[in-house]
Amino acid sequence: MKLSKYILSTDPLDEVGLYNKQIIFSTRTATSILVDNSLLGNLAVGNYDGIDSELFETLKQKEFLVPVEQDEFAHVISQNKTAKEQGNFLSMTIQPSANCQLGCHYCGQTHSKHYASDAVIDKYYERIVYLLSQKHYDGLAITWYGGEPLTGYSSIKKASEKFIALANERGMTYISDMVTNGLSLKPKLFTELVEVCKVKTFQITIDGTAESHDQRRITKTGEATFDIIMKNIKDVTSMSIYREQRAQINIRVNIDKTNYQYVDPLIDYVKDNGLQRKVSMYFATIVDFGGNDAGKDSLPKNFFADKEIEWLLKCYENDIFISVMPKRQYSVCMAEKQDSEVYDAFGNIYACWEFPYSETYGSGDSLIGNLFFPKETYNTNATLRNWNEILESGATWCKTCTHLPICGGGCPKSWIEGTPACPPFKSNYKDKLLLDYFIKKKSDEKRLAAEATS
Ligand code: SF4
Ligand code: SF4
Repeated sequence: MKLSKYILSTDPLDEVGLYNKQIIFSTRTATSILVDNSLLGNLAVGNYDGIDSELFETLKQKEFLVPVEQDEFAHVISQNKTAKEQGNFLSMTIQPSANCQLGCHYCGQTHSKHYASDAVIDKYYERIVYLLSQKHYDGLAITWYGGEPLTGYSSIKKASEKFIALANERGMTYISDMVTNGLSLKPKLFTELVEVCKVKTFQITIDGTAESHDQRRITKTGEATFDIIMKNIKDVTSMSIYREQRAQINIRVNIDKTNYQYVDPLIDYVKDNGLQRKVSMYFATIVDFGGNDAGKDSLPKNFFADKEIEWLLKCYENDIFISVMPKRQYSVCMAEKQDSEVYDAFGNIYACWEFPYSETYGSGDSLIGNLFFPKETYNTNATLRNWNEILESGATWCKTCTHLPICGGGCPKSWIEGTPACPPFKSNYKDKLLLDYFIKKKSDEKRLAAEATS
């Protein structure tokens, strides 16, 4: 056996009371273990003396130790390919509305009042039936995206009813989620979305407290939206259906130099309004979109990574759901999955959900085709579909990166735009490993205390 090259580790943890210890993390299996400081050095030189047999088994099972002759990059890529071939969910993104009420400066879309007609919905359906005939699937997953998808709600409802009936006929699981600005997400509509359309997970962007959000996520006529959206979130998360149907609202905060100061107050606001244990929060940097210069005020990567740790810790301390550690990524995103497609309100087909309604990507090489034309006319080499070849060619830094198994390359679109897509984890993994360790420890302590009193 040899020590895998896909290992990350913290510094020695004496400062936090874990004397002579460090956390090691295998990105091949997304597993972390607290070990003696000396272990990694010993493994690196093949010295396995004195390693407890249980730990030794774990190190092999979790791929800290791998066969000597193994080409690890080839192995990871081959595992990814197998996982994709064996994937049993057909996942589609549908953007049934070309319209949005908001006029955010960083958006790369051109909006118009077009919504998927019945004829377009029939084409969505026909294409999905065709794809389902190409291999065995156990489930169908639909993501509703925009424009603002809820401006095309009647199309969503009609299409959902057809897809759900199709899944039922075939005994398949049906799941659905939505990326929405939250402006129209009133209780009545929320109930229909959950009960009729089976949309259970919602991503809503809030760019800080009202002071900053209302400078950025304003309507096209310049009106503020923070109070309306937050009221909607408070209303729907108070409904019994939210809890009973295990619905989930994830608050995304888009951050740059102009609003990072408003993230702490937003976390306070979420807590003060009783949304802890109801919503999750996560933090994203604003990047250029097809040359629109939206990333001109981006925070330096390391600064953002440091702030992200502070925000995650604050969320954790306030009982707001967070996700700290990445998982093994067998596929970077839909862009590289041949059977995963994005449809817009006109029946256009793309590989990436950022392409529809975009001047840069709406046509040309990024367009796979249109659902109203025969499939023989579709461009199977559309932009981003060849991400695996780009990865294997070494054109990005990913081929030699220790993070590859959990990252997959970040966002292929960013790379083709010339922006390295490395996620903050690359800069703050040591802190995240430690945060994750303490979260798990605390939750174990709580569980043991509960067991002791029951
Ligand atoms: S290429 Fe980037 S923007 Fe497009 S779907 Fe993948 S992760 Fe999202
Ligand atoms: S995007 Fe960055 S962190 Fe991710 S695999 Fe590529 S080089 Fe590594």
